[in-house]
Amino acid sequence: MRCEAPPTAGLFILSVIGSIKLPCELRLERREDISFFVPSNLLPEGSVRVVFSTRKGGVSPPPYESLNLAFHVGDEEANVLENRRVFCSAIGLDLGRLTTAQQVHGSKIAVVGQDLVGRGAFDEETAIPVVDGLITNLTGVPLAVFLADCVPIVLFDPLRRAIGIAHAGWKGTHSGIALNLVESLVGVFRSRPENLLAFVGPSIRSCCYEVDAELFQMFKDRFRGEVSEQGRLDLVMLNVRQLKRGGVFQKNIHFSRLCTACKASLFFSHRAEGQTGRQAAIVALL
Ligand SMILES: [Zn+2]
Repeated sequence: MRCEAPPTAGLFILSVIGSIKLPCELRLERREDISFFVPSNLLPEGSVRVVFSTRKGGVSPPPYESLNLAFHVGDEEANVLENRRVFCSAIGLDLGRLTTAQQVHGSKIAVVGQDLVGRGAFDEETAIPVVDGLITNLTGVPLAVFLADCVPIVLFDPLRRAIGIAHAGWKGTHSGIALNLVESLVGVFRSRPENLLAFVGPSIRSCCYEVDAELFQMFKDRFRGEVSEQGRLDLVMLNVRQLKRGGVFQKNIHFSRLCTACKASLFFSHRAEGQTGRQAAIVALL
């Protein structure tokens, strides 16, 4: 079965969960009760793990039901720990080495060496402060960002064996975190942008992201013709364009078409729900 995605979109796979059409670039997997998205056959076997979680399969009560993976949103710490435990088990990654950031909607990237491995795995306090992106070339170290509408960006350099991940809300998008992520891999691990594979996960799309006149003008001033829908922002495409500006080939950029606010039964959405939980984007070299 084929979908209507353009030829650059990767594999032409159409899946259905209930009545929800899934994007061509990601496929839904289910292990035990946990549902999550992974790239569709785009990665060399055994090289890297890229996962975008859903809200399905955890233990948290409303308004965090149920697989809330973030400590900072007001959920019980024990629930988040249990959710992280079952999620990491389901996706086959080591929770003790999970490395996270105290995200601040900035554009700074941290380089994760051995000294930072496992920061924030079991609490918020030890997460790496004041960064919204992480890069590493260490094997078996899952890097994670947490989101409820913001854009998760994952990069993988199969030649230099390096990975990066970032969280881009409107502030991070406006200040260029996607481009920073590319440049960090280039600067630290000597990645070549043309070798990078990029995965942009489920996030809010322009259908649900109307913004006030002042914010819209800020984006028009910064991105000019790239902001075309009056009063609405498409953060996914703005980040995709930043990746391309950084030298990542369009054919290597795979992005989800799912809108987290439209699909609030499957994802946490700050815009749709207000106080809620967070899904995770995770990348790890294997
Ligand atoms: Zn929407």
